[in-house]
Amino acid sequence: MAVFIYAENINGHYKKAAFEAVSYAKSIADKSGETVTAITINPTDSSDALYKYGATNVINIKDEGLKNFSAKAYANAVNEVFDGKIIVFPHTTDASSVAPMLAIQKEFSLITNVVESPENMSPLTVKRNSFSGKGFMHAKAEGDGAIITVSQNSFGAKENAVSGTEEIKNLTIANEDTKVISHEQASTALDLKEAEIVVSAGRGMKGPENWGMIENLAGVLGAATACSKPVSDIGWRPHSEHVGQTGKAISPNLYVAVGISGAIQHLAGVNSSKTIVVINSDPEAPFFKSADYGVVGDAFQIIPALTEKIKAIQQ
Ligand SMILES: Cc1cc2nc3c(=O)[nH]c(=O)nc-3n(C[C@H](O)[C@H](O)[C@H](O)COP(=O)(O)OP(=O)(O)OC[C@H]3O[C@@H](n4cnc5c(N)ncnc54)[C@H](O)[C@@H]3O)c2cc1C
Repeated sequence: MAVFIYAENINGHYKKAAFEAVSYAKSIADKSGETVTAITINPTDSSDALYKYGATNVINIKDEGLKNFSAKAYANAVNEVFDGKIIVFPHTTDASSVAPMLAIQKEFSLITNVVESPENMSPLTVKRNSFSGKGFMHAKAEGDGAIITVSQNSFGAKENAVSGTEEIKNLTIANEDTKVISHEQASTALDLKEAEIVVSAGRGMKGPENWGMIENLAGVLGAATACSKPVSDIGWRPHSEHVGQTGKAISPNLYVAVGISGAIQHLAGVNSSKTIVVINSDPEAPFFKSADYGVVGDAFQIIPALTEKIKAIQQ
């Protein structure tokens, strides 16, 4: 029996989180001598992208009615073709709303925000993030089958090329609940949850007119930009950049926090970052306790100088 994964795409293009989910499913399949089958809806990217990470089969659902995302309709579509015992979803906003609906339909266990390959296959036991990233839980799936969502940037997308085959499934799933009135792109910048490097800033930046230096640093690092809650609340930055307990939870390889105090609610969304660099003028700022590297000083001097240094190294 195959291990299934749901390969999420945006406007037809696979998300990095989809490759990470394939890699995760491949790690399970290797433990149990099985293969990986990816389920995807209306992609324009070639299935080669999924074979590259270890999916031997791709079930490519074609359904004009699913052009607009609806968790219920997408769960119904996945349910039409999923006939295994384990399916892995990325822990993205959309996929993590499809997974619980499918869990109810299948009457399978649902374990979300998983960070490592299973510790045990029978019963399936996995390590997951809990308490907003402040702890871990070892969860055991009970019952007939399991649905797992994999925390983004935790397991990593690991190339593991196989030769694969694709099966086209033409479906007509009812999708009447969602009517899209218009599409607006919040920003052309990198997707914050997918970014490997994030430069984030807080109230220490004094005002929105000073964000140019944050964007410049992000530009040279190839990073996405983020901010603390008060910064988005007062309209200095868009809400899409707000990270923390009430914002996005992210786990990039590198998180650079500039002029952010490090309140517990902020840390809840960023403390699973692999490396944290804190730049703050107050040596007593709580964020330094969670930092791998800390710089005590004025961001207005440090950030432009750091940007120039990085540019010089890159030349
Ligand atoms: C229910 C609840 C949910 C919340 N959810 C979130 C959340 O999701 N995300 C979030 O971020 N917050 C959240 N908060 C708010 C949180 O408690 C803090 O108030 C907030 O994170 C502080 O933002 P800040 O660090 O930008 O600002 P401040 O606390 O004002 O810190 C500014 C920092 O900048 C430093 N600084 C000042 N000038 C400079 C300079 N020139 N150079 C370098 N450093 C400088 C200061 O030393 C200070 O440490 C929540 C609060 C509650 C009650």
